[in-house]
Amino acid sequence: MKRAKQTDRTEIYEPQVGTVTKDRFSLETQLREAIENDELTLAFQPLVELKTGRVAGFEALARWDHKDGAIAPVDFIPIAEDSGLIVPLGRWAIETAAKTLAEWDRKLGHEIPVYVGVNVSAIQLARDDVAEVVRRALASSGIAGDRLMLELTESAIIGDPDRAMAVLAELKSLKARVAMDDFGTGYSNLAYLQRLPIDVLKIDQSFVSGLTDDQDQAAILRTIQGLADSLDMETTAEGIECKEIARALSLLGCTYGQGFYYSKPISADKAFTYWKLSSSN
Ligand code: C2E
Ligand code: MG
Ligand code: MG
Ligand code: MG
Repeated sequence: MKRAKQTDRTEIYEPQVGTVTKDRFSLETQLREAIENDELTLAFQPLVELKTGRVAGFEALARWDHKDGAIAPVDFIPIAEDSGLIVPLGRWAIETAAKTLAEWDRKLGHEIPVYVGVNVSAIQLARDDVAEVVRRALASSGIAGDRLMLELTESAIIGDPDRAMAVLAELKSLKARVAMDDFGTGYSNLAYLQRLPIDVLKIDQSFVSGLTDDQDQAAILRTIQGLADSLDMETTAEGIECKEIARALSLLGCTYGQGFYYSKPISADKAFTYWKLSSSN
């Protein structure tokens, strides 16, 4: 989080804690206004099928271009979660992702064969009717359910497994896809993993980055891939930054990859162009 600029002398003597608290409060107010005024945007990062290089989808990532400079999700998502603003923010993300897909379809003249992954926070899952939000977003945009993928973390499921189970069942009845995000960083209960209708395990980038020069990481990745294979789930590796790692993941049987090697998260217009160029090769 950015601290207030210490432009006048009195601020320098303010206790740190007070500065941070005040700052956080004002950021919360500004985030509320940014959501209300539709000032947040979604950036889209390609999800590439490793075997073919085809763009299978995009992950939608919230961006806040604050007047004093961009604020990163790691800084504003926790504020949104603590303040409850994650509910309107999360609804906006689902609605905007669906609307963007519908716009891409219109531009192309027919359905663009990609899906969009949207992050769902544990707190959003607990407080909002996420399946109903998805149902309405599908109805108002007119897109098919399988073009949205909801990305949930392990903590979202562990917090209230029965509720998570019910929401996921509803999402599946809408044909939406479900991914387990940052897999491997939380406390996954393998029994839930088996019982939940999860389509994709997203392997956290901490397991991916050292793949080619760390035997232990390669062993962990093989284990996760084996688990996914036996549960009939696909995998997406996050944080691919070079060709060697993309190749190693493909050899391990990983389905999709995402990372700066392919593209950073980009605007909706650029993402559409990226898909068009990659599909014409
Ligand atoms: P995530 O869902 O795990 O998203 C992947 C993050 O990894 C993104 O960070 C992306 O920019 C970054 N990334 C992708 N490829 C690479 C790479 O090759 N190298 C490195 N070092 N990083 C890479 P970002 O956009 O800063 O988002 C961070 C987190 O904030 C997300 O992690 C997600 O948990 C959360 N977030 C972002 N947007 C939303 C949202 O709309 N709703 C909710 N609930 N959470 C969101
Ligand atoms: Mg994600
Ligand atoms: Mg992730
Ligand atoms: Mg991650």
